Amino acid sequence: VPPQSEFSLIQQYFQQLTPQRDDVVLAIGDDCALLHCPADHVLAVSIDTLVEGVHFFVDVDAKSLGHKSLAVGLSDLAAMGATPAWFTLALTLPEVNESWLNDFSQGLADLANQYNIQLVGGDTTRGPLTISIQVHGFVKDKQALRRSGAQVGDAIYVTGTLGDAGAALQLKNQGGIDSANIKLAAPLISLDHEDKNYLQQRLEMPTPRIEVGYQLQDLATAAIDISDGLLADLGHIVQQSAVGAKLELAQLPLSSALKKLPQKTVEQLALTAGDDYELCFTVPANNVAKVDKILVDQCRKIGVITAGSGIVCVDQHGKVIEQDGAGYDHFS
Ligand code: ADP
Ligand code: MG
Repeated sequence: VPPQSEFSLIQQYFQQLTPQRDDVVLAIGDDCALLHCPADHVLAVSIDTLVEGVHFFVDVDAKSLGHKSLAVGLSDLAAMGATPAWFTLALTLPEVNESWLNDFSQGLADLANQYNIQLVGGDTTRGPLTISIQVHGFVKDKQALRRSGAQVGDAIYVTGTLGDAGAALQLKNQGGIDSANIKLAAPLISLDHEDKNYLQQRLEMPTPRIEVGYQLQDLATAAIDISDGLLADLGHIVQQSAVGAKLELAQLPLSSALKKLPQKTVEQLALTAGDDYELCFTVPANNVAKVDKILVDQCRKIGVITAGSGIVCVDQHGKVIEQDGAGYDHFS
């Protein structure tokens, strides 16, 4: 992008896009942004990159893409119990497409407004469509929800429902060359229009669980957001906490759309599909009643932290059910 048009593009689409916060001394337009951090908090910082063809489809709606680009970062803040404050945006564009930029920035702005997070800077370059967003939030050091805090006996919870985004992904892949997906896709194709729309919404417009993460600061011992699948992400908690986990398959929270699918399909999606951006967290026994009360309808207890290592899944009779397939790994 030539300098002149880069400058006006930033001014036109990004300068006034998001809420203007009091703790921002200087935002877009100088060499750096200047920001005030509250004295009694630490900064929680995380970056995510979405690459066309890897993280989203070429034909994806630009507004949804704006939403998702920020939602994945907000989800990381949620999983830390942090309150969103600022973000930066590194945008690589193959061309300047006004209507695409309009829609993309609108999706971004709608979500930014909802969580009072301000765009304070970025970088704009020409190349294959790539979106990097770094989010910044505040949290009290002692209250941050680390992956390493789970204790034997803690209850394991997840928010929302699992496997929806994974199901939508399978639907999009149908007819693709990945023959391993065909078995999964067959029952999915028979879902009605409304269910398919719901699943697509879950994939393209994930809801970051900021409020839940904030409320868990004093209640949970560990938390993670589910981006690579429950087994993979809970796997990070058990590994970093040096504990094990027992999951009850019958307790996995499922949407009404997923409940229409065969049990095996559903379990596989709920356990191993990523992109749901729900939270998985652990709660000591003395906080379970409180979590059940204040987060009723927002989360479900699905298991318990055990001594040892690894994750064991059991059916409603307590019988161990072997699982294969871990989460998504870019380099596997
Ligand atoms: P520099 O050459 O100093 O890196 P740039 O010309 O890249 O500056 O950017 C000028 C200003 O515009 C900077 O304040 C930068 O943070 C901001 N900026 C550039 N691209 C974006 C973007 N995509 N979104 C938000 N701010 C941006
Ligand atoms: Mg620059």
